[in-house]
Amino acid sequence: MPSDTTHLIVGASLAGAKAAQALREEGFAGRIVLAGEENERPYERPPLSKGYLLAKSEREEIYVHPQQWYAEHDIDLRLGATVVAVDPAAHEVTFADGSRLDYAKLLLTTGSSPRRLALPGAGLDGVLYLRRVEDSDRLKETLRTASHIAVIGAGWIGLETAAAARAFGAEVTLLERAESPLLRVLGRETSQIFADLHTEHGVDLRCGVQIAEITGTDGHASGVLLADGSRIEADAVIAGIGITPNSQLATAAGLDVGNGIRVDAHLRSSRQDIYAAGDVANAFHPLLGRHIRVEHWANAVYQSQVAAKVMLGQDVIYDRVPYFFTDQYDLGMEYTGYVEPGAYDQVVFRGSTSTREVIAFWLADGRVLAGMNVNVWDVTDPIRALVTSGGVVDAQQLADTNVSLADLLGHPGRAD
Ligand code: NAP
Repeated sequence: MPSDTTHLIVGASLAGAKAAQALREEGFAGRIVLAGEENERPYERPPLSKGYLLAKSEREEIYVHPQQWYAEHDIDLRLGATVVAVDPAAHEVTFADGSRLDYAKLLLTTGSSPRRLALPGAGLDGVLYLRRVEDSDRLKETLRTASHIAVIGAGWIGLETAAAARAFGAEVTLLERAESPLLRVLGRETSQIFADLHTEHGVDLRCGVQIAEITGTDGHASGVLLADGSRIEADAVIAGIGITPNSQLATAAGLDVGNGIRVDAHLRSSRQDIYAAGDVANAFHPLLGRHIRVEHWANAVYQSQVAAKVMLGQDVIYDRVPYFFTDQYDLGMEYTGYVEPGAYDQVVFRGSTSTREVIAFWLADGRVLAGMNVNVWDVTDPIRALVTSGGVVDAQQLADTNVSLADLLGHPGRAD
């Protein structure tokens, strides 16, 4: 490729920064522009609801690269530079200030935005969301002085911030509309681990509730009113009720969009020379045989590297098994695989759920779809191997801690 070629990455996120890095590592000598809406250079989000929020790690630790890295690698990092339009035919984007930029290849790593509460009182001060580093800073300041926090949504944000609030010494009421935390992701059997964890750490967990209103005093949130008439007093309300992919640019540009930007296994969109990676990408996954959109750190890290290689003409696909992790109180967990709600017929526990040292496996027709290790370490590789092998496993052996996970591989009955 000629050295005056410009590859543009829109979204100065973890995915965007990793893509820029991969372009250079793969030998691209042309111009790389990495444009982002925020004024912060690319950073990682996991610490924002874990170590950084808990004031255990410094701000400098959240960044993907040191400031000077961008100049050292000749990457034109443009912060506070919002792209407002993409013209796929002209291979050109327009920025909010009216300036335009031509590209040879365009990677969209525009991420996602928190869903907002649509309730009376949702606009009060003290109703907090967590997505950006400034949100984490604001939340940390709140937690330093709050005596009671209400958390709406017992998903990953809700659970991690509830744990942080307890660590700061606040009373916590955690409100979830489903019957248990993380129900859609983990299913009933396994979500109980997280319900028990939080109640044992003093969280008032209320599932199956409907929020009627955020109550307020002098413009500031003072609690939550439930549809059944009960009231929860709180100094602040944290909402973690999911995210929506930032696919507006792609929609306006005429790309195929549906639950994010639809891309193939090479992360190519429906328009030539435009690619997508990270939270915003609804990518065809060869192992699963369908499109999935994965809202986790590992996906941003690895998918963007594949996108960069494809931008450089390499014939590679993204077929990595989804992976994510959480830390809450003294519980550390890793999850490897992918299970649609209701797509499994058996959950096998290897270890003890009551002591929370356990691996949970989700199976369908004897095949492992996913595994989640809780306070058990160095098992991600064999779990991933079980998932990718597609082989039928013996559930009794899977549950038996005396049988090595590696020995369960190679069992006859491979799916394909
Ligand atoms: P999430 O994991 O999708 O969980 C949202 C939860 O809120 C769900 O349980 C949802 O229930 C519930 N909910 C939705 N509307 C509600 C309402 N009106 N009242 C009460 N509950 C409601 O989303 P999140 O926790 O907001 O996290 C945002 C993103 O950050 C996600 O992409 C997540 O994967 C990511 N994240 C990941 C980690 C990690 O990997 N450790 C940590 C933090 C954040 P339904 O399922 O019934 O809708």
